[in-house]
Amino acid sequence: MQMEQLVALCKRRGFLFQSSEIYGGLNGFWDYGPLGVLLKKNVKDAWWSDMVVAHNEMVLQRGAPGLYEMTGLDCTIIMHPQIWKCSGHYDLFHDYMVDCRESKKRYRYDHVKGRTVAYHGQSVFATTMETENTQDCLEQAALKFFGLRKKDVENLEWSGEIMAISQLAGFSNVLGPDAKTIGTLTAPREFNLMFKTVIGALGGEDDASFLRPETAQGIFVNFKNVCDSTRVKVPFGIAQIGKSFRNEITPRNFTFRSREFEQMEIEFFCHPSESPQWYKYWRDRRFAWYTELGLAGERLRLRDHDQDELSHYSCGTADVEYQYPFLPEGEYGELEGIAHRGDFDLRSHMEGKLMRDGDGLTLELDADGKPKHRGSGKDLTYYDEVTRERYVPHVIEPSAGADRATLAFLCEAYHVDQVPNDKGEPTERVSLKFHPRLAPIKAAVFPLVKKDGMPEIATELYGELKREFSVFYDDKGAVGRRYRRQDEIGTPFCITIDGQTARDDTVTIRDRDTLEQWRVKQCDLAAELRGRLS
Ligand code: ATP
Repeated sequence: MQMEQLVALCKRRGFLFQSSEIYGGLNGFWDYGPLGVLLKKNVKDAWWSDMVVAHNEMVLQRGAPGLYEMTGLDCTIIMHPQIWKCSGHYDLFHDYMVDCRESKKRYRYDHVKGRTVAYHGQSVFATTMETENTQDCLEQAALKFFGLRKKDVENLEWSGEIMAISQLAGFSNVLGPDAKTIGTLTAPREFNLMFKTVIGALGGEDDASFLRPETAQGIFVNFKNVCDSTRVKVPFGIAQIGKSFRNEITPRNFTFRSREFEQMEIEFFCHPSESPQWYKYWRDRRFAWYTELGLAGERLRLRDHDQDELSHYSCGTADVEYQYPFLPEGEYGELEGIAHRGDFDLRSHMEGKLMRDGDGLTLELDADGKPKHRGSGKDLTYYDEVTRERYVPHVIEPSAGADRATLAFLCEAYHVDQVPNDKGEPTERVSLKFHPRLAPIKAAVFPLVKKDGMPEIATELYGELKREFSVFYDDKGAVGRRYRRQDEIGTPFCITIDGQTARDDTVTIRDRDTLEQWRVKQCDLAAELRGRLS
């Protein structure tokens, strides 16, 4: 599938629009249209329902089968600035960027790739942003630089592999992705990804705060509140869905890397000795969630991080990854990370500020070896009545992106096949084969023609179904065209009221994927849909 086709469909049918489009758009921000908002809501509802409300997994806890508790929170986007100091985001949430003095564009250091190319003895390191067709883009850049035409491409001499500019010693021979001359890229600089804001009308630098870059910290700082106000006992989980903000240097690939996005995060608190089992449990359970909702093909994988990729406090991290069509052949993009975080987060909110120490983190200590900057100073330990111990629980964190999940479901759903039209001729059909739980519209109701009492029956039926399902009424155009319109937005079932309906009270249901049609009594229709949609 070509990504451009999906992007065009998303705009045409009202799934996704560029934010602020009539003002020229705002890079890295996306609006969900009438169908997009339903689709994304269904993704979030499915997650909340399966992970929190309706979760009913019986698991072995301390040797005995039991149900663990899952509960929820909805925290603010702006929180006390000290939270970001203790979490490490203030000091460490950086990406490296390079600027181009000529094009005035800014690039993420690790995303600029290139290769050495020579023409008549003059050599240059041509670059482009990481893309599906890196070599093609490099060819275009080189032709432009040497003032050549397409037919001269064979005269270019390439040497070495395609590599990131971060592997180069200097940029003096580098041609920036949008530059005409060489040596215009600056040295890489750190750039904090948090959006800064000021609290209050008279606010100065001391009142600076940040839009949260993840929802997780709201859960950690409320750990004590949840324990004190509910009857949860370790092991238990707290879930949250909400907006997060990252001032990404190069937002791109549709909604995959945006500056404002939504996360679906769980912090699961458990006894330290049981955390490796819980880590494995959540890693497998989260992977299965995606496959159950339709990402069952070869494009999804679960990748365990290598030992050297892990943070010093972690005994395991795995990513659920999807082969998004905009990525280079064979590459995967992160959908969700499942991390064993040890007691790192609760401990830092108790004790103090984290400092960079080589590749890892340590608490900044004063001359007496005590934490220098106190965290909240509150006791975030937990007394376990089963083991009669006090400890800082370990945390397993499945952290998913609602927008990346929605995008993966859209990519996976996109299908083109051949079906017969009203005249029986084969025609191309585009359909979104969403899992019925995710489909924005569950059923469409059509009167076959606008006469013989059919519209009256159809509108009444539509009114009844609407109370329970998201349904759509359409009486315009040939019925085949109406089917196509619904296929293209992923409606699993179309219900047609025809001449027979008035006689025997039955309607036709047509299945989006199998194209099968069958008749059902009107009074049984809601139950039939309920069964097929769950
Ligand atoms: P990446 O390496 O792709 O930047 P990350 O490892 O920084 O992602 P996490 O901090 O683990 O991401 O965030 C958890 C989840 O939030 C990600 O798996 C992803 O689904 C989502 N997410 C993170 N950044 C973005 C973004 N800029 N746009 C959309 N979703 C995002």
